Amino acid sequence: MTASSSLTSGTAVEIAALIAAGEVSAVEVTQAHLDRIASDDGALHAFLRVDTDGALASAKAVDDQRAAGESLGPLAGVPLALKDVVVTRGLETTSGSKILVGWIPPYDATITARIKAAGIVILGKTNMDEFAMGSSTENSGFGPSHNPWDLDRIPGGSSGGSSAAVAGGLAPLGIGTDTGGSIRQPAAVTGLVGHKPTYGGVSRYGLIAFSSSLDQAGPFGRTVLDTALLHETIAGHDLSDSTSIPAPVPPVVAAARAGASGDLTGLRVGVVRELGGHGFADGYEPGVLTSVGEAVEVMAGLGAEIVEVSCPHFGYALAAYYLIAPSEASSNLARFDAVRYGLRVGDDGVRGLDEVMALTRQAGFGPEVKRRIMIGTYALSSGYYEAYYGQAQKVRTLISRDFAAAFGAADVLVSPSTPTVAFPLGARTDNPLAMYAADLCTLPASLAGTPAISVPSGLSDGLPVGLQIMAPALADDRCYRVAAAVESALDARRGHPLLHEIPIR
Ligand code: GLN
Repeated sequence: MTASSSLTSGTAVEIAALIAAGEVSAVEVTQAHLDRIASDDGALHAFLRVDTDGALASAKAVDDQRAAGESLGPLAGVPLALKDVVVTRGLETTSGSKILVGWIPPYDATITARIKAAGIVILGKTNMDEFAMGSSTENSGFGPSHNPWDLDRIPGGSSGGSSAAVAGGLAPLGIGTDTGGSIRQPAAVTGLVGHKPTYGGVSRYGLIAFSSSLDQAGPFGRTVLDTALLHETIAGHDLSDSTSIPAPVPPVVAAARAGASGDLTGLRVGVVRELGGHGFADGYEPGVLTSVGEAVEVMAGLGAEIVEVSCPHFGYALAAYYLIAPSEASSNLARFDAVRYGLRVGDDGVRGLDEVMALTRQAGFGPEVKRRIMIGTYALSSGYYEAYYGQAQKVRTLISRDFAAAFGAADVLVSPSTPTVAFPLGARTDNPLAMYAADLCTLPASLAGTPAISVPSGLSDGLPVGLQIMAPALADDRCYRVAAAVESALDARRGHPLLHEIPIR
């Protein structure tokens, strides 16, 4: 193994320690990752654009700080892959859409600013389903990303560029956003840890809005501790986002460290019957259920008490989500009007504004985005609003009540993160409902605004499976504690430390 390949397979914690000790410079670490991107991103297509100059300049700033004797943050100098839904000052941001080609944001998202302030090096912007609508990156306006475990399979979506980058060794850390599952599902199918924070736990200022009542940004890592460190970097109250919660950030790093000891004595783990349990296993791959079942046994072995819980309204989550999210999207996407951002088609000085707007939206949006705008506009239209949008909001309340009842009986709830392992590219592109089914397990926590993490539980037919751990609002630390315990117990059992350490094939 060359020095450069060991840098790109290390954890963020390991890399940061090497930099802090002066054993390697941040510039060397960044260069090693840029080299890796140059050699492997042709196959993975994780990045939409790589910011070589910006990354090297940020790395150099960390090296200068260290040389000046300034103290470095815990992730200083560690490279990161940033989903292209997050705006970056001076760096083109498209949200995976052709309609935004050429748009250079004049400001940084709050999370971008926090990442930079922590000395984390942004390597570039990652591919995604257009406006975060999808589960495979196949709805990207710029072609799909590929799963490093099997290049003919999806890396999940919509944050699939970030998951492909982190799983493929192009970056130790990644940022995704999760509206209905877009961090947890890609983490699951690429063997990573991915967390959707409590709604309001991480600022949405500077995220290109898809569904404002659901969108949350969150971290990807190869280990629970790396993921927790990135979570603490980006989380916390922000005056620029009125939905951000003015409360202390849950102590997720301490929880990840505490969980690694592997003791779950007294913890009540609720296995959600409606998410793959007896009588509810349709559409779930047996290998996924077996792997998740083994993880539950591991938790029992660590002292947890396992109970079965029933959440009868979870079965309506998919229907409710696919009314609420498109409704909010139809309104949010109205801002792409051919005037303010990016693409403008047919502006010949003769055509009127309406026609230019129509031509631009026709050319700039892909088919899934158009489908969602139509569904959402219909669901919100007068005469149908109560029957569709209003009804879906009532279902949302019932799902929150299911969670409240279940959290009376259990401290955390568990399920598969997604019903199947990574499916082949192209397998679901002709069938939107099959694509939507990838989110069956992740949608309830999205609708309730509660935190959930996906942690690798093992392999099925050589492909990664994710265990989802859900906790009550603001108890994100519980997700990390339990995930760390599962991770350390499974690592001990497997005899090798990191599930993700796989050659690209
Ligand atoms: N796959 C879901 C959708 O298409 C969720 C996307 C997301 O979380 N951004 O809407």
